[in-house]
Amino acid sequence: MVIVRRQFITVGETVMTKGETMRYIRPLSIEDAVGLLAGSSGTAAILAGGSDLLVRMKGGFVEPDLIVDIKAIEGLSEIRQTPDGFSIGAAVPCAVLGENAALKKAWPGVVEAAKLIGSKQVQGRCTITGNLCNASPAADSVPALVAAGAKAVIAGPSGKRTIPVEAVPIGPGKTSLAKGEIIEAILLDNQAPRSGDAYLRFIPRTEMDIAVVSAGVNLTLDEHGVITAARVALGAVAVTVLLVEEAAEALIGRKLDEAALERLAKICSGACRPIDDKRGTIEFRRKVAGVLATRAATTANARAGGK
Ligand SMILES: Cc1cc2nc3c(=O)[nH]c(=O)nc-3n(C[C@H](O)[C@H](O)[C@H](O)COP(=O)(O)OP(=O)(O)OC[C@H]3O[C@@H](n4cnc5c(N)ncnc54)[C@H](O)[C@@H]3O)c2cc1C
Repeated sequence: MVIVRRQFITVGETVMTKGETMRYIRPLSIEDAVGLLAGSSGTAAILAGGSDLLVRMKGGFVEPDLIVDIKAIEGLSEIRQTPDGFSIGAAVPCAVLGENAALKKAWPGVVEAAKLIGSKQVQGRCTITGNLCNASPAADSVPALVAAGAKAVIAGPSGKRTIPVEAVPIGPGKTSLAKGEIIEAILLDNQAPRSGDAYLRFIPRTEMDIAVVSAGVNLTLDEHGVITAARVALGAVAVTVLLVEEAAEALIGRKLDEAALERLAKICSGACRPIDDKRGTIEFRRKVAGVLATRAATTANARAGGK
């Protein structure tokens, strides 16, 4: 295993390792960060909170030749409220999301999901963008972001592009990002009137565990409580988070009554393609996916003002 020397020198605003085995650079602009990543010849990694990357490095699973720390890049540590909604910079720690009253009010499910990640200490470092790019099917913030219709703004060597968050992870530990690309921000639109979101996960203990099954739901109601728009996402039951369009279709045009909940549970259980392991059997995961989807939908419905 390569031993990484942790002796940093500062050159102007740039910090680099002195040893040859790994370069650590803290660029100040997104253009410089993209240029460094695009021009690297070895293995390069982006460092946000480091709560996944550093654990993987310590375990010897990755040995980057270059680490590009994005925390000093201007604007990346800010949550901006725009006329369209919110832009959450890629270096904003999850703990900060809960301190933003407007974001919490508009997207309580997303904020709650981010606040389930690890512990207070982990949340002080980790980011929702890192959670997304780590590409774990069990990542807590991802089903909530998918249900919310969040988008990722990507900066890369050929300019910027914006894609739905569900298009970022393509398999466990794999993303659709090309060499040199960095997610700059996550966008959340303003919620339509009478809308609400919610996220729930099942873990065998009370905290500090990875979801065995999870569900995120976002609903919009009309003035009579009839669902006019819905998004349902399931986590930890397939190789990536699932957007269950059939579940949304079954909800639209009706109130969230017993029959609707029953149908939602059935569709969600059927949509799962889970693994069988010591943390949960396939049968258990299917059942729990249905239960969590109905509970999250009930909370989302209440938040939207439904009865
Ligand atoms: C003790 C502990 C408990 C945890 N508990 C949970 C939990 O309950 N739920 C959960 O979901 N996760 C959990 N995690 C995992 C981890 O904390 C989260 O996935 C976290 O959100 C990762 O964010 P980060 O900013 O620390 O990512 P980093 O470690 O900095 O990066 C993660 C990956 O994403 C890439 N990356 C980061 N930012 C970008 C970007 N802007 N553009 C492109 N690629 C990028 C990195 O190169 C790396 O591959 C836990 C981790 C620890 C150590």
